[in-house]
Amino acid sequence: MDIKNKFNRFKSYEDIAKIDGYIEGLPFEKENYKYLLGGYRLNPKVMCCFFSNGRICHTPHNRGFVVELLSGEVTIVGKECVKKLGADEKLLQDVKVLEKEESRQDKIESLQSRLKSPLITFDEVEKTYDRVLALENEIKAFWREIPSYIAHYLQDKVRTDNNAIRANMEYEREYFVKGEKKVNVEIERAVLYRIKGLRFLNTDLIKPVKSRLSSVKGAVKAINSINSNTPQKKLNEIANELNSYSRYLKSIGEFEEYKKEFMNNDFRFFVLLASLVDDKRSFYSFLSSYSEDVEKLGGKRVYQKVKESILNHSGGVRFYILSY
Ligand SMILES: [Zn+2]
Repeated sequence: MDIKNKFNRFKSYEDIAKIDGYIEGLPFEKENYKYLLGGYRLNPKVMCCFFSNGRICHTPHNRGFVVELLSGEVTIVGKECVKKLGADEKLLQDVKVLEKEESRQDKIESLQSRLKSPLITFDEVEKTYDRVLALENEIKAFWREIPSYIAHYLQDKVRTDNNAIRANMEYEREYFVKGEKKVNVEIERAVLYRIKGLRFLNTDLIKPVKSRLSSVKGAVKAINSINSNTPQKKLNEIANELNSYSRYLKSIGEFEEYKKEFMNNDFRFFVLLASLVDDKRSFYSFLSSYSEDVEKLGGKRVYQKVKESILNHSGGVRFYILSY
């Protein structure tokens, strides 16, 4: 053990007793302090040798420090007594440096042991990153292929988190006034369909997760380059990234749920949106990859069938979708 390395950590009383110049029970007076040899954390506790006001402390402590005196002799003092020293006292200043270094070493140790565990590895983070990339590409493809007018309509829905496809329904009632037939028309706005998993289309939700995962990848890589000079700040950054990994995993899981919900939509109802566009054929052909009926019967036929069933069901005579 390099005794002049003040970051020694004494794990047993025997290790302390072996130090050249150590004298059990030797009083420590702050005026005689020369050098801090390290810290100890011992069980059972050991008697503190701090000497002040004409008496020796003798309180048993788990935690304390090994100190060298001007005479070259070595003794121990409990942490509580050192903490009572004035801020200008050299021993207290040395202890502060030592504790900072100890916490840095602890952090390195815990980071390196985490890397050994299979919980988070570079390969795993890389795979997760690819999962996000695949999701993002699917959403991008959706927006790229959908006709632009419908895309605007849906983007508006995504932005306002409003999943309702609404339409105006018309109801006609015939009545007679003095033998003359009259028609009363009532218009009502109704929700025709609620889009499931609309959040899947929200790229703003997935983008930040992707960029944060890049940082996690960087952090896992950085663990390999940790050495005894790596500053505490850097270690904290790495630890924070690793800690947030599970949170990102959760968001990705949520996003995959949105996708599942979205794919569970009855896409036949999406043909209702066709009334918004001039070139309906391109929208129908877009939908044919999502709906078997649209693929088999064609968009126009499905549109008619859906429309009929809505009108039968609601008792209306006509419906039209407004472009907002
Ligand atoms: Zn004491």
